[in-house]
Amino acid sequence: MNKYITIYFLLFAFCGTPCAASNLFFGDPPDAHHPYAVHDRNRPQPAVVVPGAQYGDAPSDAIVLFDGTEASLSNWEHRKADSQRKRDWYVVDGILRPVKGAGYLATKHKFGDVQLHIEWLAPAERSGEGQGRGNSGVFLMETFEIQILDNYDNPTYPDGTAGALYAVMPPAVNALRPYDQWQSYDIIFRRPIVRDGVIVDEGSITVLCNGVVVQDCTPLEGGGTWKTRADPNTLHPDKGSLALQDHGDPVSFRNIWIRPLRPRPIDGGSDGRLSVEATQAKRLQIAAEIRRDAAEMQEGLDQALRLYESLMYAVEPVALQTADAIIKDYLVYLESLDLNKFESEKKNLHDIAKAVIYLNKFSILPEEHFALPQVEALLKRFDLKVER
Ligand code: MG
Repeated sequence: MNKYITIYFLLFAFCGTPCAASNLFFGDPPDAHHPYAVHDRNRPQPAVVVPGAQYGDAPSDAIVLFDGTEASLSNWEHRKADSQRKRDWYVVDGILRPVKGAGYLATKHKFGDVQLHIEWLAPAERSGEGQGRGNSGVFLMETFEIQILDNYDNPTYPDGTAGALYAVMPPAVNALRPYDQWQSYDIIFRRPIVRDGVIVDEGSITVLCNGVVVQDCTPLEGGGTWKTRADPNTLHPDKGSLALQDHGDPVSFRNIWIRPLRPRPIDGGSDGRLSVEATQAKRLQIAAEIRRDAAEMQEGLDQALRLYESLMYAVEPVALQTADAIIKDYLVYLESLDLNKFESEKKNLHDIAKAVIYLNKFSILPEEHFALPQVEALLKRFDLKVER
């Protein structure tokens, strides 16, 4: 059996069917701040979340904090000592409501960055004016208050209007419905981040009131309280409870759910733009996973291409040598073919060419790598085009 026939049989045993294209060697490769290539198929697929049937309904991955049942009160605890508290929050007709003096109600669980949905209704009996009419509030990390107030036709100081980041920033617009209708807040909260005693990100808040943006990445500025700006140097913890305010008014609540958000890049997020150190670590991890995957394959073109793929994330001599050896034999075999026999090898040459040209274009293969001139010659000989 001559050398080329031997190679042919070996290759047929390796691939059986035409080797699968990797779909890689396509977008810009990983760089110092991006562990993945553009359009990288090695990037994990987003987790599947089933959205609620209607706007405001909890999606499948939400933590439901209040669903209208007494049982869901087990998610909450009082902030006023039992000995001082003569009143309580109560559930009636699926609605949660405080009795004046009940004190703040806070989640047992602590949260950092979150998406929050909450619905509220001003008291039916309207009394008082300004801050004295239907006052409550949603406190992120028990610090940053998004004001709740019966403000439909009840002006007050703007940075205390419903939808305000209290004492910091008024809502962009007043998007309240009339007082006797339910209102909704959808809040995206990005907490302050403190590292080694330094505030590296003061955090921000985005709020939609009845679907209308009223806060848009508003800087938290440490929060604020009545008449008072927060000390901008306050070092906030990474997590805190969500709290509802008892301001003495029987504001009603329903349908409260929350979703922790994925980490931001500054906070060690595993995707997207990262620090140089985090990117380097992630690239090594991706390369190792691909090489593990390649090791589980039979030897052959698929394995070689998978190993070449791993070089995009981190160059490693053994992976390069192993892939090179397979590709070298394969190219010799392709060179032995005449036009008739080549037809069934078209796709494999295409895949090899795509990989070799890409890795050469981005200087991932060593300079003067053997494969490029051979691949270019084969493409020319068999009149095959490859997207570059
Ligand atoms: Mg309030």
